[in-house]
Amino acid sequence: MSDPISKPMTEIHIKDALSTERFNAIGDWIFDLDNTLYRADMEFFGQIDKKMTAYISAYLDVDAAQARKTQKQYLVEYGTSLSGLMAVHNMDPADFLHQVHDVDLSLLKPEPDLRAAIKALPGRKFIYTNGSRAHAENVAGHLQILDLFEGSFAIEDAGYIPKPQCEGFEIFNKRFDIDPQKAMFFEDNLRNLSVPHQMGMASLLVTPTNGQDFAHEPEAARPGALNAQTSHIDVITSDLSGWLNSRLS
Ligand SMILES: [Mg+2]
Repeated sequence: MSDPISKPMTEIHIKDALSTERFNAIGDWIFDLDNTLYRADMEFFGQIDKKMTAYISAYLDVDAAQARKTQKQYLVEYGTSLSGLMAVHNMDPADFLHQVHDVDLSLLKPEPDLRAAIKALPGRKFIYTNGSRAHAENVAGHLQILDLFEGSFAIEDAGYIPKPQCEGFEIFNKRFDIDPQKAMFFEDNLRNLSVPHQMGMASLLVTPTNGQDFAHEPEAARPGALNAQTSHIDVITSDLSGWLNSRLS
């Protein structure tokens, strides 16, 4: 509120339809990892995206262009490229996860404001990622926020069933005894919020601060598609810590 360098509220918080009453009832806060707990303009996820292309190229013995096409096709059809590779090619996920997440963490800059805001939220906090458990711990550890979370739920924990499929969410809810009516889900991927919303969770979509589309996201998940399908989203903002602080203050 008092931050003089903030952009006008309307540019940052594109939509906010979450009532104070509902916000105050939230006891479980569930965060996606990549491009949600760090800003997309840190360009960190692009490393993983490129490693996936290289891995698929080698694994399927195809050129980079074809590998890229397959990667994006599986992302749209199966939720993650990994899930498609497992379903269609019976690929062992362990080596893939290890290789594609072997990335330079130095691009990630810890954000003290975000840490303080998450810490101030009353109740339990979780990470729920389509990435590996090691990736979740590496990234959250580097961001100096890992200690804030009750648990990390990674693709191995979901039996390799990725968001947006509902089975993974059901496993998550059961494992941590989540009451969806008292939970809120934070994501940068629009379609991953459909199931949480259907289950009764509040939902927040983080959009890129630089206004650029994500080259790695399927059409349906791009911010450009925001106008089409956002009725299931309670809050849309490009400033996660700013929004949290606006509710906590
Ligand atoms: Mg994400």
